[in-house]
Amino acid sequence: MSGPNIPDDAAPAASAASAAADDTSPVSAEAVAAAVTAALTAFDDAADLDALKQARLDHAGDRSTLALANREIGRLPGTAKAGAGKRIGQARGRVRAALEVRQRVLEAERDERVLLAETVDVTLPSNRDPVGARHPLTTLSEQMCELFVAMGWEVAEGPEVEAEWFNFDALNIDPDHPARQMQDTFFVEGSGVVLRTQTSPVQARTLLERGAPAYIVSPGKVFRTDELDATHTPVFHQLEGLAVDRGLTMAHLKGTLDHLAEAMFGAGTRTRLRPAFFPFTEPSAEMDLRCFVCDGTDPVCRACHGTGWIEWGGCGMVDPNVLLACGIDPDVYTGFAFGMGIERTLMFRNGVEDMRDMVEGDVRFSRHYGMDG
Ligand SMILES: [Zn+2]
Repeated sequence: MSGPNIPDDAAPAASAASAAADDTSPVSAEAVAAAVTAALTAFDDAADLDALKQARLDHAGDRSTLALANREIGRLPGTAKAGAGKRIGQARGRVRAALEVRQRVLEAERDERVLLAETVDVTLPSNRDPVGARHPLTTLSEQMCELFVAMGWEVAEGPEVEAEWFNFDALNIDPDHPARQMQDTFFVEGSGVVLRTQTSPVQARTLLERGAPAYIVSPGKVFRTDELDATHTPVFHQLEGLAVDRGLTMAHLKGTLDHLAEAMFGAGTRTRLRPAFFPFTEPSAEMDLRCFVCDGTDPVCRACHGTGWIEWGGCGMVDPNVLLACGIDPDVYTGFAFGMGIERTLMFRNGVEDMRDMVEGDVRFSRHYGMDG
């Protein structure tokens, strides 16, 4: 420091006798200016909020140069008090303002660092754990059921191990009826129960329980003693439907099946009914779909063997004996029933060629249908 001390406020000569005139006094203009410079430099140098906190304690805290100078004001002679008070007050104001500015800058820098550190790269794989997929037979079965639920039908399920009476007798299949052999049933020896060969017993149970009118679909597993090959499995899934009400005819049956066929295979899908025999319906029919491959134009088509039609399932008007067995008066009510394999439907619908793909449990097969319901 050099030259005479000339306070900012050009204090009168009286101050020469006071501490204010002393270059070493903490309230001198030089000392105050130096304290301000030191504070601003320290704030600028603070690289982060921790460093700034220390700089604040050093330069704006209770033990800082300016705080000590502030306390000195009280000891000054009256004439010097005002000038020193103003000088130190302004200095402390500058220091506080500079501190606030630096504080905001460092906080913004910290926030930016945090955001960068927490940034999610949406292009990275989010989850490398392998995920499974619902089996397409499950989702297809649900889609078929939902179609009927939308028309006001009920979904009913029943036991897979079924009483012989429900599986055969209630469905008009007598003990010596060829169908009991035809179907190659899994009998549970000496117990009077079988692994159900169709889902029809669910409908017999529901009719007995609920009475008419009834509109029921029953999805589920059924069992036959077939060897596993490209077109057969010993366990497969069926969807059966049964409607019992006053005045139902085959026209209602045909309309219902056409609606289901269009929902499964697309608008304009053609069906036909072909006379057949089932013990529990009279008359009975096979329902065929127009050949997906040749549309009936290729006499040597391998898919339809040149007939132009592919069998999808069976159907018919419920035999009066079945209605009687279920406690329904066949003079008042009529009904129609139909059933088709869900595996077969999946094969036609999605071009699955080998039924074994459906039972091998390879998740790649299921995942292929991942977006399909
Ligand atoms: Zn064909």
